[in-house]
Amino acid sequence: MPPCPVCQQPASKRDGFDAADRQRYACRSCRRDFTDRSASAFAGYRWPAEVILLAVRWSLSHPLSATSVMELLAERGIDVSKRTVLRWVQTFGPLLAAEVRRHRRPLGSKCYVDEVFFFRGKEKRYLYRAVDETGQVVDVLFREHRDTASAAAFFRQALARTGWRPAQVISDHHQPYVRAVQEVLPEAEHVRTGLHRARGETTKPIERSHVFTRDRLRASRGVKALATGQRFFEGFEALHALRRGHACLGALVPGHDPAAAGVHERVRAVARAVTALGAWLAKAPRPARTARVTERPPRLGERHGKRLAVLARLGRQAASLPRPRQGGRPSDPKRWLDADSRHSPAPWPRLPCPGPSAGGPRAQRRPARHPSGAPGT
Ligand SMILES: [Zn+2]
Repeated sequence: MPPCPVCQQPASKRDGFDAADRQRYACRSCRRDFTDRSASAFAGYRWPAEVILLAVRWSLSHPLSATSVMELLAERGIDVSKRTVLRWVQTFGPLLAAEVRRHRRPLGSKCYVDEVFFFRGKEKRYLYRAVDETGQVVDVLFREHRDTASAAAFFRQALARTGWRPAQVISDHHQPYVRAVQEVLPEAEHVRTGLHRARGETTKPIERSHVFTRDRLRASRGVKALATGQRFFEGFEALHALRRGHACLGALVPGHDPAAAGVHERVRAVARAVTALGAWLAKAPRPARTARVTERPPRLGERHGKRLAVLARLGRQAASLPRPRQGGRPSDPKRWLDADSRHSPAPWPRLPCPGPSAGGPRAQRRPARHPSGAPGT
């Protein structure tokens, strides 16, 4: 029987069928039910993986708005909203990017780095990008500012994701790169150059590779938020890597020979590669449910420790105050303070006790009135 997608223990028994008539299994150790599809990133979605991947591929590969993708799907009898298309791109773009990263070609020894800006209204946002000498995109990071912190964060993210240590970092004369390279890549040689140089390194490889990103966003109104933008750009670069041959298409698509394939075969191979990658997309691992342990409930002091400490302090203050000679309510220390400091007459004069004949215990508990006639409280 298949293993449980959460705790990885083998299923203990079959447990009927789900609504789509798939065999359901029960896991004894974490008490979950699951099917063969539960571990897939597409589990719980109404539409099959092929439809979702088609919409995501169109959105990321071509300068299409969500409305355009919605209309193209509707022509094929698939009725989804444009918001659903956007959600699919946001969810499955980064998952595809992580999967493409595992299948891409080895990176070279040079790192060309630059940032490209995008406007959203009047706000300027910066996309940090780096390519190696073959034009393969190393990583992207979408940031609000263009400074040393952003440049260093970009290098750190790229190194953490790829484990790549370039021998040479080539950038323009933008000052923050100097310290960022020293911080994160101290062993790399930093070459500061420009786009037009007669000899030596230029930043042309990275400047040229910005073109595709700009082209994709030209027809759109820009990227609204940093988080959604980052997810979109990751997915876009993943599809771009597949289309430009920076991922090993031959390993993903059986029988595909990238050297001999024509342009149309390559397009079909990319579509099949996305489908093949989609089969490996898994849900983000959830923390395993812990066994139910009968724990000792917290004691009053543990649960309300702070509040009890305050009450205890108030009580100590009250105990240290001189008690009024007459009357007074022991639960109200503030009233004692006021009575003492303002030299006012005692607010609770002792009235002659009416005695048990004038009223029962109920009458005695009534608030006493001040001799002046004002309410005593
Ligand atoms: Zn389990």
